Amino acid sequence: MSPDDSLISPASGVALRYPFDAAPPSGGALEVAPGVLWMRLSLPGSLLHVNVWAIEDGDGWAIVDTGLFAPGADAQWEALLAGPLGGRAVTCVLVTHLHADHVGMAGWLTQRFGCALWMTRVEYLTCRSNVANVGREAPPDGVRFYRGAGWDEAAIGRYRAQYGRAGRMVYALPDSFRRLEDGARLRIGEHEWQVVVGRGHTPEHACLYCPALRVLISGDQVLPRISSNVSVHPIEPHADPLGEWLDSIGKLNASLPADVLVLPAHNEPFIGLHQRLERLAQGVMRGIGRLHARLCEPRRAGRPLRYALRKERRLQRPDALYARHRRGDCIPQLPRGAQ
Ligand SMILES: [Zn+2]
Repeated sequence: MSPDDSLISPASGVALRYPFDAAPPSGGALEVAPGVLWMRLSLPGSLLHVNVWAIEDGDGWAIVDTGLFAPGADAQWEALLAGPLGGRAVTCVLVTHLHADHVGMAGWLTQRFGCALWMTRVEYLTCRSNVANVGREAPPDGVRFYRGAGWDEAAIGRYRAQYGRAGRMVYALPDSFRRLEDGARLRIGEHEWQVVVGRGHTPEHACLYCPALRVLISGDQVLPRISSNVSVHPIEPHADPLGEWLDSIGKLNASLPADVLVLPAHNEPFIGLHQRLERLAQGVMRGIGRLHARLCEPRRAGRPLRYALRKERRLQRPDALYARHRRGDCIPQLPRGAQ
């Protein structure tokens, strides 16, 4: 989905608390919980940064998420490794999900330190599949999918031109991985971390929750100021990611305490998980309501309907996540429970 109303509302984030006055500087880190460091890597576009985390793990560091593979990314990591990470080794790399701003440098880090990559199985294998699309032509299935959604030939041309491009922002993945599974418990340094899987943004997104520290590394599953993209993609045209997204909001709300410190992949760490989840769910349901209102006569899911919905939202600054993936937005059937 696109950014919800909370992105632009004056009341945005009113229930959330941001306990840190400043973000870490470029090449620096900020300790946000005992043994947990917040670092930022630069991104092109309006997102500006992705947050990555280092968790003290004996003599070294477990790294969670890795930034894009792009010119200068290795220099950014070298500065972090020599600077706030004190020249200590990386013991393992955990990646929340398959998007390039999270997995991009995982192969570089695991290669440099000879350590394992941890991901959920679906995210790892889907990422391998995406990377394998580099250099391929856009498949007829994809063209048919977007044409059926109402795209004009110019949009189809852009799809063809950009096909496979995301895989170029991912450094060669290791050929094996260790699996993160929903409910699994990992020992990292002094603490146990639980894997909490969410769906909708990607098929098997891993969040990491540490009960002792009351910290949740939420990836893109929960962001304080952006509502993450939820799209149907040509590879599974009848998928219901919005239904999965709503299910995941319910699951996270029921299984995690309200007062955890949430460490999101974009924006700033915050407290107010349940309020944010409720706001996200409300935003989705309002969008579905608008969709229902627009579906009083047959329409295609492509540009006219999408633009109508966006205009109604009066978006002032569509975020890069939305912009990058908007092609699939609003194409699906309505999610379970909303039909
Ligand atoms: Zn993502």
